[in-house]
Amino acid sequence: MNTDNPPTLGRPPRKRPPGTVPYVTPGPRLTETTMITMEHPPIEVPALHRIADDVHVFTPPGHDTWGMANCTLVTSPDAPALLFDTPYDGPLTRQLQHLAAPILKGAAIGTIVNSHANGDHSYGNGLFPGTDIVSTEANLAHICAEPTPQELTQLLASTRSDTPLGWYMRHHFGRYDLTGLSTVEPTRTFTGQLTLQVGSLQADLYEVGPAHTVGDLIMHLPQRDVVCAGDIVFINDHPVHWAGTLEEIHHACQRVLALQPNTIVPGHGPVVGPDRVREYADYLEALRERIHHLHGLQWSVEETTADLLRRDAHPTWGLSERMAIAAMREYRHLDGDTQAPNLVELVAVAAGYAHARHVAVPHPRLGAPAPRPTSR
Ligand SMILES: [Zn+2]
Repeated sequence: MNTDNPPTLGRPPRKRPPGTVPYVTPGPRLTETTMITMEHPPIEVPALHRIADDVHVFTPPGHDTWGMANCTLVTSPDAPALLFDTPYDGPLTRQLQHLAAPILKGAAIGTIVNSHANGDHSYGNGLFPGTDIVSTEANLAHICAEPTPQELTQLLASTRSDTPLGWYMRHHFGRYDLTGLSTVEPTRTFTGQLTLQVGSLQADLYEVGPAHTVGDLIMHLPQRDVVCAGDIVFINDHPVHWAGTLEEIHHACQRVLALQPNTIVPGHGPVVGPDRVREYADYLEALRERIHHLHGLQWSVEETTADLLRRDAHPTWGLSERMAIAAMREYRHLDGDTQAPNLVELVAVAAGYAHARHVAVPHPRLGAPAPRPTSR
């Protein structure tokens, strides 16, 4: 695989301004000899489900793993369609395009809306050349700090497979084929609120960040009682959030509920009704209260994480190790640390908890555990 001159699709990304701290530290250039071994569960078949008239959701099988994000297609018989978020990699994006073709009946996708800048919601942008890409102004400013597909690939190759992080990264990210993708920025941005039209259907975009990231938005289809929540809402997995406090994320959930939708498309997990979003918001509130309580008692973040994992009120949800990231992020807020987080450091800590749990009780789908590292 030659990554010296990766093919570029769509508009190239802007140069990262001097002083911008990337969320990841790129690893060495990927070469033939450092190609990762694909040690990961196979992707089951994604599907495109109708959830309301003119509204379909692409749901890759996403429980208990990272990156399998939902995308929502809004169509009209007499206007170009709108796609809310694009998949993580090329094969998933092409599957979505294949599944969407009979629904589009020859119509084009005229607009992409990116809920935020994480790659699992935007790396597929470049496979829709010429499409308008709408997101928040804060999202455009933040996209420079996101890893490019090439940086993520290099990071994966640079982690040692005999470390918890290497084991974790391969299981959760090794399945994605980012070949030929590049970061493609929004072509139209807004702050606050923006209304789009898809034929006679109204699509209201609301900025709700900082929450999951600094630039989050949600989309309300008032004539269909549908809200696409992006990664403000995770269903059936413990969430991961990078920017806002738990209080801010809880507030963003309340904004979803305040629109009184019947149907909510989360960023990850099955499409649900408002009761499941209320349950999720209650979880965030309980998590926040516990972390603040233990921080007030001068517990270390490691002691607090151990407590959260021991008390896990949702043992059927996947990725409980993400509570370590929640604790670390909330402690940073409480301690007044405003430096940009290093994603790799946060994920490495979560990977350590997941690896320890896996060694104790091997995961049925993840195969044999990696050996414990003897040195770093
Ligand atoms: Zn996501």
